[in-house]
Amino acid sequence: MVEIVKILFISLFIITLTAFSGCTDKTTEQAGQGKIYIVGTEPYFPPFEYADENNSNKIVGFDVDLINAIAADQGFRVQWKDLEFDALIPALQSGQIDIIASGMTITDEHEKVVDFTEPYINAGLALAVAADNEEIKSIDDLKGKVAAVQQGSTGSQAAEKLKAEGKIGNIIYLAHVNDIILNIQNGRADFMINDLPVTNAYISKHPGVIKIVDDKLQSESYGFAVKSGNNELLNMLNTGLENVKQDGTYDEIMAKYF
Ligand code: GLN
Repeated sequence: MVEIVKILFISLFIITLTAFSGCTDKTTEQAGQGKIYIVGTEPYFPPFEYADENNSNKIVGFDVDLINAIAADQGFRVQWKDLEFDALIPALQSGQIDIIASGMTITDEHEKVVDFTEPYINAGLALAVAADNEEIKSIDDLKGKVAAVQQGSTGSQAAEKLKAEGKIGNIIYLAHVNDIILNIQNGRADFMINDLPVTNAYISKHPGVIKIVDDKLQSESYGFAVKSGNNELLNMLNTGLENVKQDGTYDEIMAKYF
């Protein structure tokens, strides 16, 4: 009997410890009941998903607030899982996660392997260089120049297309936007192609490091993704998205981050 009580106490202690330490998976605690869905994200992509400045175990951002609002509307709960961007689709396919919320562009290629919600925001790609770069003024000045892009992103595909056309030099692939910018700063790369809202957010937070050149390279829309054929979850996300747009929550989240 005493042993059982001891074990119970120890288990309780461990559970409490894990709950307060943030665990390995960064979670957003939501009160209430409802099924828990695991949401995969690459949380180095402000303002869409990034670690909270005061609590690095907490993921915050536009996508996080939007998914939380949809979950509240549809009566489900979410748990966030931190993954590399190019690991998100395999994780969805293997059932490790249920939803991708990671500033993911709706592309024909991705649509073949996952199902996307309706677009939830318009974005696009931008070309950026070091703030003091006087040489690159447009996409026509990139011949032989080294690109820094995020592995598995639409920015990397845009760079690969330019490379195939002989319009740029080598491509350096990196995991996160911060690494890309570091490579621009230290001169290993001459330019970057990344999502315009994310590049803009970086520039407003860290003026004088990089600058955008030329117009938006291409327009894109982001969607949340579920495993192909998971219509039940897809319908919940789409209905929830529509509802939070109607009731003003979407606009509030928009105003908070942009
Ligand atoms: N929007 C880009 C894509 O889907 C990059 C997204 C990201 O890095 N989170 O490829």
